[in-house]
Amino acid sequence: MRLSSLAAVFAFIAAVASAQNAQPPDQPAVTVRGQTYTPRSILARNMGSEEDQTTAFAPHKVIGNVYYVGTRTLSSFLITTPAGHILINSTYERNVRTIEKSVAQLGFKFSDVRILLGTHAHGDHQEGDALVKELTKAQVLVMQEDVPALEAIKPGGKPHPIDRRLYDGEEVTLGGTTLVAHLTAGHTRGCTTWTTKVQDGGRTYNVVFACSYRAPAPVSPAVESEFNRTFKIIRTLPCDVPLGDHPAQYDMAAKYGRVKEGAPNPFVDAANCWHEADIQEAMFRAQLQLQKDQAKK
Ligand SMILES: [Zn+2]
Repeated sequence: MRLSSLAAVFAFIAAVASAQNAQPPDQPAVTVRGQTYTPRSILARNMGSEEDQTTAFAPHKVIGNVYYVGTRTLSSFLITTPAGHILINSTYERNVRTIEKSVAQLGFKFSDVRILLGTHAHGDHQEGDALVKELTKAQVLVMQEDVPALEAIKPGGKPHPIDRRLYDGEEVTLGGTTLVAHLTAGHTRGCTTWTTKVQDGGRTYNVVFACSYRAPAPVSPAVESEFNRTFKIIRTLPCDVPLGDHPAQYDMAAKYGRVKEGAPNPFVDAANCWHEADIQEAMFRAQLQLQKDQAKK
C-alpha cells in the first residue's frame, strides 16, 4: 500500500468521526474476559448520561489519605496531608462546586487544596482548573506534553492556569506525600498516570491513578508509537490499588458497594490492576488492524 492511500484512509475516517460529532464507531469489537467492547460502548461506559457526569458520587475514603470526591462518571481524588491537600482532576467547571461540597462532606476544607494535578488535557477532566485555582489559590502542575492542549481549554475565556511544567518521572511532594508523574501518552500527548504509596492499617500500598488509555479513531502513526510505549510502561508500575479518571475503569460503584467495616478494603485489587489496560490495548490493536484492512480495500 502506498503512503498516500494510507493518508487518504486517515482523512476519510477522521472526516466520518467528526461528522458523527465525536460519537465513536461501533467497530471493531473486542472481547476481554468474556465482556465485549466497541469504541462506542467504552465511551458510553466512561461518560454515562449528562446527569451522571454532574451528580456527585458519595464521597468516600479509598485508602490511607486518598479520597474520592468526583461525580458518578468523572473522577476527582483528594489526597490529604498535614500541609494541605492535593486534588487530582477538577473535571468540568460546572462540577467544581460539587467537588467542593464533597470535600467538605468528608470533613476537609476545599480552601486547603494547595496543589492541583490532572490526568489529561480534556475538558471532562481539567476544564475546572481555573475555577479551582481561583477558589483555593492552588498551584497547578501539568505534564509538559499536555501544555498546548490545556492552553486551549479556556472556559468563559479564562486562560488555563499553569504554575509548573512537569517532565516524565518527576515527583510532586506535599506534607510527606509524594506523587510520581508518569508520562503515559496516547489518549493525549501528555496523558499522566500518577502513582503514590499510602499507609493503611500498618501496611504500605501502591496506588495508581491511571490516565485514560482509550485510543482515538483513527490511530495516527505518532499515537501508535506513544501507545506502544505506554502499554509497556504502565505494567511495570507497582500497583495494589488501581484507580482511573473514569470510575468505570476500576469498577468503582461495585467496589464501593462492598465497603464494610472490618472487611478487606475492596479497592485493594492487585489482580485487576491492568484489566482496563488489557481492554484498551486489545481495542488499540483491533483498531490498527481495522485501519490496515480498510487501507487495503
Ligand atoms: Zn479524555
